[in-house]
Amino acid sequence: MTIETVCVVGAGTMGHGIAQVSAMAGYQTVLVDLDENRLTDASARIAANLDKGVAKGKVSDETRSATLTRLRTSADLIEGAGEAGLVIESVPENVALKCKVLAQAAAAAPRGAIIATNTSSLPLARLVDSVPAPGRFIGLHFFNPVHIQPLLEIVVTDHTTPPTRIACLEVAAAMDKEPIMVRDSPGFASSRLGVALGLEAIRMLEEGIASAEDIDKAMSLGYRHPMGPLRLTDMIGLDVRLAIAETLAREIDAVRFAPPPLLKKLVKEGKLGRKAGEGFYRY
Ligand code: NAD
Repeated sequence: MTIETVCVVGAGTMGHGIAQVSAMAGYQTVLVDLDENRLTDASARIAANLDKGVAKGKVSDETRSATLTRLRTSADLIEGAGEAGLVIESVPENVALKCKVLAQAAAAAPRGAIIATNTSSLPLARLVDSVPAPGRFIGLHFFNPVHIQPLLEIVVTDHTTPPTRIACLEVAAAMDKEPIMVRDSPGFASSRLGVALGLEAIRMLEEGIASAEDIDKAMSLGYRHPMGPLRLTDMIGLDVRLAIAETLAREIDAVRFAPPPLLKKLVKEGKLGRKAGEGFYRY
């Protein structure tokens, strides 16, 4: 399977970063979103990321301009996916929406295209029926910010064929990502472990065991995590973490993954973390 063109659907936090690393990897890249404003913002963010890379000496001028040349946007999924050997869906974490987009993408893409989802917690088993060729369906779970984080979690179902896995390992290498291969299950490896630690830290804060700063220091200084679990939850978004916890509570264990009342309260108050100016910390 030779992939020349990649179509990324959803130009938000994740989609713009996936499109950037795809174009940097040498793929012709089409970034699709229903919302023209999101496409304009995404193009500006990609250009700004590349400019920062050039200023820091991490990206050459040639790479910057070649990346931008390989990248285009489209508000029409049917047109955008028309030549894609790989479609990466990155729309919001909602089963019905994802199923609709995956079905449209699979219908629009050429025969033989790989259809991937960037879901961070939904079992692929809930999405697989929306694509006509389950052998070419796979999870490609990127991390935020995509152009910096080295990990790519590749999620395979019982149907995913060896050629699909191999092609995705080649994509990971081209994008300069370090892949891990995980069997389909709710939250995969990364979100399940990350959320478990985050929820426990929130419960400890609720119980008055220590301040947010000191709980975070326990992990950053004691266990050399680059960032404590509460600050990390602020960075990811409290709403995003709550949605994952609810999925894991439903799919794996209602007690272990029950969202703590403090998390629900902060989300209700709009204290969603760094993006809202306040979460467990103020920004
Ligand atoms: P986001 O809300 O920032 O972006 C989603 C984009 O999808 C929006 O621009 C929206 O306009 C667009 N969209 C909605 N419906 C569409 C449609 N029918 N067709 C085309 N575009 C459509 O969301 P995000 O944070 O980028 O998350 C996207 C996915 O990535 C989710 O599945 C999420 O779980 C996963 N994820 C998120 C993170 C994170 O840190 N935010 C990390 C890893 C994975």
